[in-house]
Amino acid sequence: MFDEVDAQNLSGLVKGGASIYEAAAVEALRRAGAVQPEVLRQFRNALCKHSSGWEEALAVLPGEVRGAFREGLVPEVLTVHEARASEIDGAEKLVFRTGDDHLIESVILKPESGRTALCISSQVGCACYCSFCATGLMGFSRNLSVAEILDQVRLVNRRLRGEGRSVRNVVFRGMGEPLLNQAAVFEAAERLVDPAWFNLSGAHVTISTVGIAPGMRAFAERLPGCRLALSLHSARQEVRERLMPQARSYPLEVLRAALVEAARSGTVMIEYLMLAGVTDGEEDLRALVAFVGDLPVHVNLIPFNSFTGCNLEGSSVAVRQGFADKLKSLGLSVTLRRSLGVDIMAACGQLVQHKLKMD
Ligand code: SF4
Repeated sequence: MFDEVDAQNLSGLVKGGASIYEAAAVEALRRAGAVQPEVLRQFRNALCKHSSGWEEALAVLPGEVRGAFREGLVPEVLTVHEARASEIDGAEKLVFRTGDDHLIESVILKPESGRTALCISSQVGCACYCSFCATGLMGFSRNLSVAEILDQVRLVNRRLRGEGRSVRNVVFRGMGEPLLNQAAVFEAAERLVDPAWFNLSGAHVTISTVGIAPGMRAFAERLPGCRLALSLHSARQEVRERLMPQARSYPLEVLRAALVEAARSGTVMIEYLMLAGVTDGEEDLRALVAFVGDLPVHVNLIPFNSFTGCNLEGSSVAVRQGFADKLKSLGLSVTLRRSLGVDIMAACGQLVQHKLKMD
């Protein structure tokens, strides 16, 4: 126990305020205030598992240390800048503002299956310049921190609390290439599955990559229970390079070798964008079947919605269905993904890019 003077000293332990995810800083506050580990666990549960607000979480702590925790910790590093809800399917896009005034996006998906999914960003902009992606047109600004990644989940959970929902699936498929921000993304993913933090199942945390082969191998070692999604989009090297300049660094054989390693330690999905006249022909289908071979992967065929500044068109429903049927007849495990949030520019980077143009 300590008096008011002690409380001021205690808050000074964390100069300028640490994020609530900085375990060492939180532990320093706990020790200095002689807070029982069990009470700290309840405080963390309130924030990360029960979607509590800041004051509500602080109320879990003994009264005499609340002031020090309030001053020593920064409850959130992002603020909600804008939210748009789909009138078609309940998807919601949130634009968050970072402390240094960047905008990033997260998309809440509420599929009919009932399991709420959240697509989160890992970078401000992206350095990969994929030709089908609005974020790719923005260029790269910086990596997001662990706190900025995890705040997307926590703030969305707070928002969903009134609906009796919480995020069950987290997918690193928003702005940025997660495997080019490996340190922060891996640490954030570990917190998401850690029973002491967010306690999600590893099967419900997916990292989606355009194919950064060394990162895919590191993923297999560090996050064996989580899922990897490879945005293949074409199994023809020249087409991949046209769509994704990063493909020049990792030819298909290098990518496949990394995929074999990743598949050994967990579930792997192959994402395949259906682009009219680019990825949906017979030659594309044969190349895809040859690439997959006997790998234990699931292929997800993704519809494409074009946007201003992009000259690609999505394949028709009939072509997508025909492509899926042929793949299935050849023994591949395939789903045709439904597009959610079309009316709110839910695809990666579209809303922020739109806003930047308007400002
Ligand atoms: S698809 Fe992903 S990796 Fe490619 S530009 Fe967009 S955000 Fe970057």
